Amino acid sequence: MMFNARDKITRGLLSLARSPLPFHLYYRRHFPLPSVLLIENTNCCNARCVMCPREKLTRKPGVMAFELFEKIIREVSGAKRKPVVHLHGFGEPLLDESLPERIRLAKAFGVKHTYLVTNASLLFPETAGKIIGAGLDEMKISFYGTNDESYSRTMRGLNFKVAVNNVREFVKIRKEMKKKTPKLILQYLPLETNGAATEEFKFLWRSVLDKRIGDRLNFVSPDNFGGGRDYNPVGKKITSVCFYPWSALSVLCDGRAVTCCVDYNGVQEVGDLNVQSVAEIWNGPVVSGIRKNFGKLDYGGFPVCQRCDWVHRQ
Ligand code: SF4
Ligand code: SF4
Repeated sequence: MMFNARDKITRGLLSLARSPLPFHLYYRRHFPLPSVLLIENTNCCNARCVMCPREKLTRKPGVMAFELFEKIIREVSGAKRKPVVHLHGFGEPLLDESLPERIRLAKAFGVKHTYLVTNASLLFPETAGKIIGAGLDEMKISFYGTNDESYSRTMRGLNFKVAVNNVREFVKIRKEMKKKTPKLILQYLPLETNGAATEEFKFLWRSVLDKRIGDRLNFVSPDNFGGGRDYNPVGKKITSVCFYPWSALSVLCDGRAVTCCVDYNGVQEVGDLNVQSVAEIWNGPVVSGIRKNFGKLDYGGFPVCQRCDWVHRQ
């Protein structure tokens, strides 16, 4: 799934990163635990979206062992300031049948905010009921088409009618269950393949979402995804400090921790949660060294960062 960090936080931090370095008070300290913990429950996917470098994935397909997930959640549950937990990574999270159970566990351990991004192709009524019942707080649906043609040209391998119906049913079921969560974010990415039909997209969802409880639409622009795509030109000079090592930790489904969610092949490893704790990795020498390097705009040795348009954008 594409960009995991919560939108408002991401936008705020990105603008901060563009301000001159001496003013970066934010970068002088970090909290004892990441603010956001991105846990990839699976790296398998049933789609081949045009903007997603799935064909470049070299990692073995898999699902995170439930015991490992539980270990991670237990570790952070004792903290006063618990991380927001994202339950997806470079894959379709609903392919993992234990997803509702993972949500339930995170909520039972006191995680205040659970979030995931899905393509909704498998969000059938039974699964919808389980996810709502488990207590998921927020769910973003990547929906990059406005009719059969534009949708299948962009979200290759998926079916427009099935996805539309799943979203509509989801909203109905949530209402029947008298729940206000998960709040829904319907996301659109204007592209050549979908005709950049932003107004049509708004029309499609106008009467479906429940704005009173916080459902909303979201519009994004294409991203290079750590160099996996080539939408935005990347010059030689990196111009901003990436906030990731100060705010978030990404965990791959095999338990390795990496610098961020766009490192889809896990080449910028910072630790292994099979043998280390979240706090050990977050406060340990590897991530501390990265903070120092990034703070000086030194991205040497970070091949994904060097091709990432987040830090090259002016
Ligand atoms: S649904 Fe699309 S964007 Fe998400 S992981 Fe699969 S191919 Fe990539
Ligand atoms: S690839 Fe590097 S620079 Fe880009 S978001 Fe990830 S950690 Fe930050």
